[in-house]
Amino acid sequence: MENSEIKQKYSTLRIRFIAISGVFFVLMCAWIYISSSAREELLGIPSAAWLIALVLALTVYGVFFFRFYRCPNCDSRLPKGWTIKTCQSCGCHLSEQ
Ligand SMILES: [Zn+2]
Repeated sequence: MENSEIKQKYSTLRIRFIAISGVFFVLMCAWIYISSSAREELLGIPSAAWLIALVLALTVYGVFFFRFYRCPNCDSRLPKGWTIKTCQSCGCHLSEQ
């Protein structure tokens, strides 16, 4: 696989990882706010629905991180972090940053 293709695939993975993390973060903040203020709803959505959404987001986050956040070249798991410069297993360059 060409290195530019590897970088492109990693870039797409990274954007998805950031998006999933962002959704999870927003839901986590909403849940903390709901539970600390003992509200029964937020923005017209019942607190139970927020909790279900949070659990679903956590599940998606976990599945994505453990199953799909892998090196596009050697398929080994990548360490935590949104900007991985090189794969620790095969040493290929994943991003310029
Ligand atoms: Zn690799």
